[in-house]
Amino acid sequence: MPRKSTRRLTFPKSQKSQKRTKNAYGTPSPGLWATMTKHRGFQVLDEKDEMYQFVQGNVALVLPEGVPPVNKLAVHEFWVCKIIEVRSIEDNEEPEVWARVQWYWSPQEIAERIESFDIARCGRFERLFSDQFDLVSSLCFSCIAPLAEYDETRLDQPTISPDTFYCRYNFKLRPRRISPNHEGTCLCTRAYNPDIDTMHFCPRPSCRASYHRECLLKAKWVETSTSGRDLRLLCSNPDSDDTFEMRTLGPRRKRVKLDLVAGSTYAPSGDRSLEEALDYLPTGLVKIAQLPIMKGVEGGGLVGNVRSVVAARRMVYEALMSVSGPLAVPSNWEERVDLSEVPSSRRAKQLSKIPLFRCPQCQGAI
Ligand SMILES: [Zn+2]
Ligand SMILES: [Zn+2]
Repeated sequence: MPRKSTRRLTFPKSQKSQKRTKNAYGTPSPGLWATMTKHRGFQVLDEKDEMYQFVQGNVALVLPEGVPPVNKLAVHEFWVCKIIEVRSIEDNEEPEVWARVQWYWSPQEIAERIESFDIARCGRFERLFSDQFDLVSSLCFSCIAPLAEYDETRLDQPTISPDTFYCRYNFKLRPRRISPNHEGTCLCTRAYNPDIDTMHFCPRPSCRASYHRECLLKAKWVETSTSGRDLRLLCSNPDSDDTFEMRTLGPRRKRVKLDLVAGSTYAPSGDRSLEEALDYLPTGLVKIAQLPIMKGVEGGGLVGNVRSVVAARRMVYEALMSVSGPLAVPSNWEERVDLSEVPSSRRAKQLSKIPLFRCPQCQGAI
């Protein structure tokens, strides 16, 4: 929980003075800042004498300017900044500590500067990393907060917990620019809002695109047959535009003993089906590899299952492609996927109700 401050010392952002003094808000001027004593961090006490520690590099929450400290704010309403440097003025009895911070701006703040910026396409916990710095009194800091980098193009994006700040864009004030572009890969070109959207993702290298569920439905990008759907999903290859096929297995191999299924053997040959081969791999792994890749409200949260499904498909392909030795997956396969993605019977029921989407670009199952 953010610390409750009893004093309000937060100022409008970017109030600078060139003199070796303080400006109207009490902020040290650049001249004064240059003479101040450097520190690695600082500590502050709340009204209950509880100690909060802040160090350089932390991302921290600051009570917004104009908000009385008695007001209860939701976490996502705080200002968010990265502590770059800490210095103090030592000539008082109690040193006056200031931090130079780099701001993570809220979508609302960006919209005040860029008229076309669509805040409806951002989540509540989303922040844009700005190129703007300020000096902030240590007394304005509430607590440190985790902030995750979110790269929508990554196939191995780590999970981001709910109610955690995240950043997927950088913001430059002069000239005003957001990078990467605040656009989506969907047919509608609108970006993904994790708070309200459910997205379906095609992992093929020339697609690598997420689509809003409602956009796919509206444009009728839906398969008509359920037959072979699981295998079509499994064969949608994150590393090749060609669908994964059993016949890429190569020449006929000897019978091989499996560690995975005691006493069982698998003899790959041209006339064995992919489905049959999958029986020799861990069921949980295959189930994850056969999931549609989704994210968002009904898609497993902010980053969804992209990382797990891609990792599972790669491990399945590798096992099926190996030209010698037992048909096996890495011993640590369970650590390389999120096992909670293995659908429970309840989740399987929910999944069965999702329309059978196909990719508007490659027409493959997604
Ligand atoms: Zn869309
Ligand atoms: Zn595609």
